[in-house]
Amino acid sequence: MDKIRMTTPLVEMDGDEMTRVLWSMIKEKLILPFVDLKTEYYDLGLLHRNETRDQVTIDAANATKRLGVAVKCATITPNRQRMEEYPELTEMWKSPNGTIRAILDGTAFRAPIVLPFIKPVVKNWEAPITIARHAYGDMYKAVDMTTEEPGTATLTFKGESGAEKTLTVQTVKGPAVWQGQHNTEESIRAFAKSCFQYALDTKQDLWFSAKDTISKVYDGEFKRIFEEEYETCYQAEFEKLGLTYFYTLIDDAVARVIRSKGGFIWALKNYDGDVMSDMVATAFGSLAMMTSVLVSPDGTMEFEASHGTVTRHYYRYLKGEKTSTNPIATIFAWSGAFKRRGALDGLPELVKFGQAMEAASLETLESGVMTKDLVGLVEPGFQATAVNSEEFLDAIAEKLANKLA
Ligand code: NAP
Ligand code: MG
Repeated sequence: MDKIRMTTPLVEMDGDEMTRVLWSMIKEKLILPFVDLKTEYYDLGLLHRNETRDQVTIDAANATKRLGVAVKCATITPNRQRMEEYPELTEMWKSPNGTIRAILDGTAFRAPIVLPFIKPVVKNWEAPITIARHAYGDMYKAVDMTTEEPGTATLTFKGESGAEKTLTVQTVKGPAVWQGQHNTEESIRAFAKSCFQYALDTKQDLWFSAKDTISKVYDGEFKRIFEEEYETCYQAEFEKLGLTYFYTLIDDAVARVIRSKGGFIWALKNYDGDVMSDMVATAFGSLAMMTSVLVSPDGTMEFEASHGTVTRHYYRYLKGEKTSTNPIATIFAWSGAFKRRGALDGLPELVKFGQAMEAASLETLESGVMTKDLVGLVEPGFQATAVNSEEFLDAIAEKLANKLA
């Protein structure tokens, strides 16, 4: 069989622990036999980040900007415990995802892979709900303080021109707690653009919700920028595709989401997205079935699994155990990247290969062959057998080979 041809390389970011093991198994069993794989390879494994003083992460992000499509393996974000585990670390390196997000000015879209025999907790949800979380500012870049005595707090902005603006926050009679938050027009606009762009790319409706009845100026600014971007840049294309954009209050959105069938993108401010993405992920079933794609305003995309490096399984793997770690979200990161690369380069065979990887994975699950984490979630009466990761990937590879033959 002739291997499927690629023209532009994918940016490949390798990672850590159990997901690094799965990464090479996926390449060996599902990709290399079928595709003449072209990648620009960046090793984001913790020790290599340390050796390069994290330059490799910056290089990988810049390569993504240049080439337009990346696929990333989960990586360790070091904390104190990791500093002890890896004594060679010279610094507590920052989260690679944070670094990449900042360079690409991107928004992360998180979506569950939905299976007919694993019912979401919310029984009317039929199609995935994709959460887009604004990843800059608000409470996450706030300053806080407590005060003890009666007094008044003010908020002052000093412009570079020398002009000043001051507001009274509150006068209090006793001890109090305070917080100063901000966001920038540039970041909100990039968020809006990424959301509209991704809605067009995936042909889904876009919902955006905030609390502009109470936060009239702050949330009102988010609402205004979304509306302005929609009207000036995206409305015509939305209408052509029969898609809708609508804004609604967050309380109303929560009620509508619960009663919906799913199948849309829900854009949220930073804190709302943090909370709602965990709620939606849990209600859909399993963290191992969540995919994530980072989208820049210009349409650059980086695909990955939402879960981490599955450390507990890795320690068992190191002892020689064959673990039953779920590779689905990582497979879908690769398939998403192939589909995007194929669409950009006009390579329908590559797009079809991405689709075939997904179909073969889903059919394997539907045949009852799955990893341990899913067995406990299936509907009563569905016959499921737990296999280890290698056996699971072999079963998918067999179906994939049949599809492509
Ligand atoms: P995690 O790797 O997502 O794993 C947490 C637990 O969830 C696992 O122990 C496992 O439960 C279950 N799980 C997650 N993915 C699974 C899969 N594919 N198959 C089967 N079970 C799965 O989160 P963590 O343990 O909190 O973090 C580990 C490391 O990952 C940390 O160093 C963190 O910095 C990093 N991390 C990276 C990213 C990223 O690169 N995007 C994201 C999050 C975390 P059981 O053990 O009960 O089976
Ligand atoms: Mg959270």
